[in-house]
Amino acid sequence: MKPANPVLSGLGTTIFEVMSRLAESHEAVNLGQGFPDDPGPDDVRRRAAELTVDGWNQYPSMLGTPELRRAVADHAKRFYGIEADWSSEVMVTSGATEALAASILGLTEPGDEVVLLQPLYDAYAPMVRRAGAVPRFVPLRPPEWRWDPAELAAAFGPRTKAVVLNDPLNPAGKVVDTDELAELAALVIEHDTYVICDEVYEHLTFDGRRHVPLMTLPGMRERTVKIGSAGKTFSLTGWKVGYLVAAPEIHRAVARAHQFLTYTTPPNLQDAVAYGLAKDDGYFTSLASSLQRSRDRLADGLRGLGLDVLDTAGTYFLAVDVSELDPDGDDAAFCKRLTTEAGVAAIPFSAFYETDHVRHVVRFCFCKQDATLDEALERLERYLS
Ligand code: PMP
Ligand code: GLN
Repeated sequence: MKPANPVLSGLGTTIFEVMSRLAESHEAVNLGQGFPDDPGPDDVRRRAAELTVDGWNQYPSMLGTPELRRAVADHAKRFYGIEADWSSEVMVTSGATEALAASILGLTEPGDEVVLLQPLYDAYAPMVRRAGAVPRFVPLRPPEWRWDPAELAAAFGPRTKAVVLNDPLNPAGKVVDTDELAELAALVIEHDTYVICDEVYEHLTFDGRRHVPLMTLPGMRERTVKIGSAGKTFSLTGWKVGYLVAAPEIHRAVARAHQFLTYTTPPNLQDAVAYGLAKDDGYFTSLASSLQRSRDRLADGLRGLGLDVLDTAGTYFLAVDVSELDPDGDDAAFCKRLTTEAGVAAIPFSAFYETDHVRHVVRFCFCKQDATLDEALERLERYLS
């Protein structure tokens, strides 16, 4: 047999699948993969149920239902002042994952370089490589997860076609500040590149911090793809409804890729998400404040056990330095032991690196009910004592 595509066949199974299946088989409390364990907003789910029974369940437009595209445009205007034409600048995708894939495939070609900041979501580098482009990695340094301006500048060159910016940042929980955004924007303009902004955690910021889309900075509107996910905004990760906003030329390029990836996304779910995006501001602020409470519950509990918990400004995740508990410096083995022996699953930070792996930090997900977090803390306490 001839070999399958080596870029993909050389990969292992994504860490999220590995840890969730391990957690299931050991009945561990799963603080690994990022998904809430409450059912999500009742009204949004009921809307989807009604639409399944009474609505249109055949192929919608490949760009998304008009209802959801309008709602995404309204949402961009309402929260960020971004004016977007729903018919030429908005697209619905099957999750943010597909929006990322379509953006990378639509904008890059073999030989292009794409700047990626580490730690990074595990899908980025394989997608870039499969498109034939070459990743250029730039480290973000803990505890603040800032880039070194000289290292960032050095990653840009004549072949740079795009940058992927994940803000708020999974797994580190960083929210990029406006000075950093301005610094990145200057390089993007100087080198005439695109930016693919993965903003799935846009509504999940804490302590009064607000998410500022790079798209709102001068010169960025026509260069960026702004990606969101209903999975995160409505605590419905299994729905896989994503969306993007981009200037018409970029939108056209990305649509060419999207039409032969998934083409469409279930219309009942799309229109339920449209309903959700129109919810009043109270929905969005209470989503963030209730997650902030969960963050504090888990962070305080872990600190109470003597663990070194890094600060988290956004996302679903806490990063914990486990150097003292794991002198071997093998975070992947440590997380497996934690799952099988302590009964609590976490994700090793090394899974978010392609080079220069950080191996002494693990990621715990806190978007869980109090009882789940408390059970995890009790199990950890027993294990650590
Ligand atoms: N980007 C980041 C940074 C994520 O953490 C995730 C995981 N949910 C995704 C993209 C994928 O989002 P979706 O489930 O909407 O495809
Ligand atoms: N984004 C989720 C996480 O970081 C996982 C999504 C997935 O499993 N692909 O945990």
